[in-house]
Amino acid sequence: MISISTAAELQTYVAAKLQIGQRIGFVPTMGYLHEGHLSLMREAKKHNDLVIVSIFVNPTQFGPKEDLDKYPRDLKRDKELLESVAVDVLFVPAVTEIYPLDGSVKVFPADSLLTVAACGNKRPGHFDGVVTVVARLFDLAQPHTAYFGLKDYQQFLVIKKMAIDKQYPVEIVGCPIVREKDGLAMSSRNTYLSPAEREDSLVLSCALAMAKQLAAQGLPLPDIRQAIVEAVQEVASARLDYVEILSSETLQPVENYVPGQVIILLAVYIGKTRLIDNMLL
Ligand code: AMP
Repeated sequence: MISISTAAELQTYVAAKLQIGQRIGFVPTMGYLHEGHLSLMREAKKHNDLVIVSIFVNPTQFGPKEDLDKYPRDLKRDKELLESVAVDVLFVPAVTEIYPLDGSVKVFPADSLLTVAACGNKRPGHFDGVVTVVARLFDLAQPHTAYFGLKDYQQFLVIKKMAIDKQYPVEIVGCPIVREKDGLAMSSRNTYLSPAEREDSLVLSCALAMAKQLAAQGLPLPDIRQAIVEAVQEVASARLDYVEILSSETLQPVENYVPGQVIILLAVYIGKTRLIDNMLL
């Protein structure tokens, strides 16, 4: 694996590979890698000549009171994991390589229809930061295909729409949520959890599994939503940030349950750690 830290070097490298007709797969991450990340890289390896992974903790997608400064980082361990799945190129830029040197960061707005709900509502500006960094990374890596986890379902839709709007010649692939054995969706932020909080964190996946059963029994969507609210309330360390039941395509509210077209998006604070999960009904 080669490691590249400047935008110019990545551009030169990519231009040479495109020249000889290589197909590029790209996986953007914020590092502190786990099996969820590695699943995207394995998928990318299957379908491309060359896999580029970026590790960049993007400041513009964090709110002022969020965890930018304490976001977990371990580049040495990440490099070993990247080698283990035979990633070809690691792009690990400094902030100044991604954003202009004069300090004026121009953030592009994300699509507003997809960002009114859920994390868009609770984390103002978050998706603007995501779209801005992903567009910049697409410009540099010029991938044929880019791989994103459905764990961040709203992010996946926002990026898919951005690629269409900006006419990036890239296919956006969504990969399934990878979970711990007990059901907790893998996340770099799980490392913040104390042992007791780790137990309590199961409320997210359990509430979603319960919701799926209730939907299969034909319970109306508002009642399903209420059941999730109550399940979260039962856990002392848990505080609901949002639970929304939306169209899985448009993220607009839905009246009726149409199988395969409804998604439950859930965000819960466990202590101070904010976790998200989702379930397609
Ligand atoms: P992050 O480093 O959290 O920005 O995540 C980088 C990519 O990995 C994003 O596309 C995430 O959706 C994806 N990802 C994170 N956790 C998981 C997971 N548990 N399963 C599948 N993909 C994931």
